[in-house]
This record gives sequence, structure tokens and C-alpha cells, in this order.
Amino acid sequence: PLPGDIFPGRRNSAGVDLADPVVRLPLMDRLAALDGKHWHAQPTFCFDAEGEVAPINKPQDLTSEVGTRRDALAEEVEYGITRAVHIQPGWNALGGEKRALLLEAAAELFELHTDEFLSLCQREAGKTLVDGVLELREAVDFLRYYAAEARRLFTAPTILPGPTGEENRLSLAGRGVFATISPWNFPLAIFIGPAAAALAAGNSVIAKPAEQTPLIAALAVRLCHEAGIPEDVFQLIPGAGDVGEMITSDARLAGVAFTGSTDTARAINRSLAAREGPIATFIAETGGQNAMIVDSSALPEQVTRDVVASAFQSAGQRCSALRMLYIQDDVADDMLAMIRGAFEALEIGDPVDLDTDVGPVIDPDAKAALERHVARRKKAGRTVWQRKLPRGTTKGCFVAPTIIEMDSILDLKRENFGPILHVARFRADQLEQVVADINATGFGLTLGLHSRIEATRRLVESRARVGNFYVNRNQIGAVVESQPFGGEGLSGTGPKAGGPHYVARFATERVVCIDT
Ligand code: GLU
Repeated sequence: PLPGDIFPGRRNSAGVDLADPVVRLPLMDRLAALDGKHWHAQPTFCFDAEGEVAPINKPQDLTSEVGTRRDALAEEVEYGITRAVHIQPGWNALGGEKRALLLEAAAELFELHTDEFLSLCQREAGKTLVDGVLELREAVDFLRYYAAEARRLFTAPTILPGPTGEENRLSLAGRGVFATISPWNFPLAIFIGPAAAALAAGNSVIAKPAEQTPLIAALAVRLCHEAGIPEDVFQLIPGAGDVGEMITSDARLAGVAFTGSTDTARAINRSLAAREGPIATFIAETGGQNAMIVDSSALPEQVTRDVVASAFQSAGQRCSALRMLYIQDDVADDMLAMIRGAFEALEIGDPVDLDTDVGPVIDPDAKAALERHVARRKKAGRTVWQRKLPRGTTKGCFVAPTIIEMDSILDLKRENFGPILHVARFRADQLEQVVADINATGFGLTLGLHSRIEATRRLVESRARVGNFYVNRNQIGAVVESQPFGGEGLSGTGPKAGGPHYVARFATERVVCIDT
């Protein structure tokens, strides 16, 4: 076993090897054949399948309809939660082993439906194929890892010391009905991850995907049902914020797992606090104002590669993405020249093209907000480097990748969720101040450091208040089981997805003490 291996022999999925033409070429043909496929999302328990639907269009052209979404009605939310309440004790009683087998069966089906998932990642979410492959892998890995956790945590009670002869048993159990509210930027992985953890722990789950990406979620839920997870146990409830509010204001919920903006997390927290009923568990993974610090000992080629990946992969639409790069002043000009070289080489375009590095952002609102941010900085006289958008991108939600020179991270008032990188310079004697400023944003998700100086690494590691600190590498793409992911402060309530403490956060603990 590897050091630290809780599950010796368990490995993450291999994914799809896009570098191998024998794999890639037929896959591209199959994806082209799926391009016209029309999808639909509706509540698992749908009273009126003919009801009003909203179109879901590709972010890359806004005119091709990928499918339709039928939002849940208030009666359907109410009915769905009622069914979830009734089924939950039975699902909990099934035990960790049986729940694990069902989650593993779902993982198998996900892999068998690779083509459809990749097609939906590209068409519904505007993701590149590389990002789609990573996303599907992560989804499958979450299912299998949380299945392993269900076995580890929910099979037998832990026996605790009984100094006076009594028997003490500690066990974990599902809390009840969990709602999961998930984002569009990982429409499969972060849709299924929290749901799988809640299911593993013995909860029934009401899952509301982002309004922009319900189709891929609908496929995921359908496959979970085909794998044998009962419909009552895992339900899809599509809709926008109003549907989310109907769910989170229901007094029967035991908990909510949310990924999205800090503002929405606050609103959900208020809604949970205002209800009657049990005090709900709230798990939130929210935004970031993520920095990377590069000192003069860093390797320029490595920095260039990692900065560009961290800031521009997934069009910057990761909450882990690099927003603020601090470069030590004496190497800043050279380093920036190299970064700009790689930045100029990024291919911007339709994610369906294999060469594309940067696809569209998710919707017109996102595009407008990002463009406003850049316009304001230009007006303020900041140095701005901006790529020209290629022809053929004007119809879609494309945002020109941009680099903006700044003085401090504290000048950034909000998260800019797109392909925009800010850069500032610092003197070697300002390192501690830089870390203090990063902490002062209140966010605490990812931080990158490029330095060969051990003392610098130790200093930054001991001061930085972030959930994920990456040294001499990029700061995106946390891997299930190896880099559990999640932040603190304004970035979330702390539980780390894909880590050994996550599933237990969805459970309640019970002690039985038997005296002899
Ligand atoms: N886990 C992802 C990563 O490490 C980010 C998740 C998110 O954007 O919500 O890049």
C-alpha cells in the first residue's frame, strides 16, 4: 500500500486516454453523432409531464437547443420530500455494505455512458473535452470512494472503552432527508459527489442541480435508479432559486449540502435558521479569491505552465482557479513575458474542437459581469492585456482571456468567475504582508506557491488560512482521496470533498451503553 492508504488496492478511475488516437478518433465520431440528441430534465415525481418547459441552449452559440427543463412545482417538491421522509429509515437500515454496492453499480453505469456524459459536458456546460473527461472521472471516483467510506463507517459500530464493565458502542446513522444544491461549473462531479456522500451515510436525497445544467444531472439520476437506488431515495428536483428556496424552507430537511456562491450560502443558512423543525446540518463549499505567490527562486517554465492552467483552464470557472498572482519584483518582467507568451497561444473557441483550450463562460449574465469588471479596470487606468476573440465566437458567451495589473488582492471586491487573471508585484521583504493580505480577503480556498526555498514554504504554510495549499504545481484539479477539497472562512464550512472525514459529516452519531 501507498503511505496513508486507508483503502489499499482501491484506485481512482483511469478515464479516457485522449492522447491515444485509437481511443480519441472513434470517440470524436461518436460525439459528433450525439450532437443533435435532445435531452429533457423533469422532477423524479412529476405531476404534469406536459407542463411548461424552458430551453437549455449551448453556451457556445446560445441558439442550439440541447434540451428542455421542466421546473418542479411546489406540490411536487412537497410530494417528493414526503416520499423521501418515508423511505429514509429503510435506506438507512440497509447498511453500509448494500449502499456501497449500489453506489458502485452506479459508477459502472456512469463509465458505460461516457459518451453521453462527455457530450453533455460539452454541449450543456460548454466544457472542453479534456475538462469533460476529468469531470466524469471525478464523478466516478466520488461514487466509488464514498462507497468505500459507506463500508468503512457504517458496517460495524466502534467499541469504546468500558472501564466499569459496561459495553459502549458508537455508530453512525443517516440524519434523514438531505438536500443537495449544486453548481453549473461541475455539473456532474459536484452534482453527484455530495449526493453520493449523503446517500452513503444513509440519507435520502433531494437533488437540485443548477438551473443552467439540469440535463446531465437528469442522466446521472436516471443511471443511479437503473443501478438500483430507489427513486424515492434519490430524487431530481430541477429548477431555479425559487425551487431551491422551497426545498430549503421545508422543516423536514435534516441537512443541506450546497456548492455555489457565498451570497447564496448565506441565504440558505438564513432560510434553514428560520424554519421550524430540527436544527439542520449545513455543508457549504463557496467561492474563493485564490492567490499564487511566485518568488525569485521559482522555475520560470514551471510557473508559466501552472499559472496558465490555474487561471485559464475551464475558462477560469473553477472555484479553485487562480485570480491573483503575486510575483517577486526582480523576476516579474521576465516571468510575465513568458506567461504572456503562453497566454497568447491559448486557443479560444468551440469546446467541440479538440484544440480548444478556453471555451465559453456559462451564460450571458456571467459574460456581462466579467466584461464590466475588465471595463472598470481599464477606466481606472490599469495595464490590461486582453486576447482578441476569434471570429465565430460572437454568438456565444465567450469572454476574452485577460490579464490585469493590480497593486493588491484587497482591491478585488468580488470573485471574478472567468478567464481573468490579476497580477501584482512584491518585494522579498513584503512576503509576510502578502500572506496577511490574502488572509484579509476572508476567503480561504486555494493558494499556490512557487518557491525552492524551504523557509518560505514553511512560512507561507504556517500563516495561510486556506483549505488547499499547492506548492510548485498548479492549484486546480484536486484528486479524490489524494487532495480532499474545500475551504474555510468565506469559502465554506470546511468539510473536504473526497476526503476521509466528509461522509461522516452527513451522519449523526449514536452511542449505546449496555450495563452488565
Ligand atoms: N475541485 C475543483 C478543483 O480542485 C474545483 C471545484 C469547484 O470549482 O467547485 O479544481
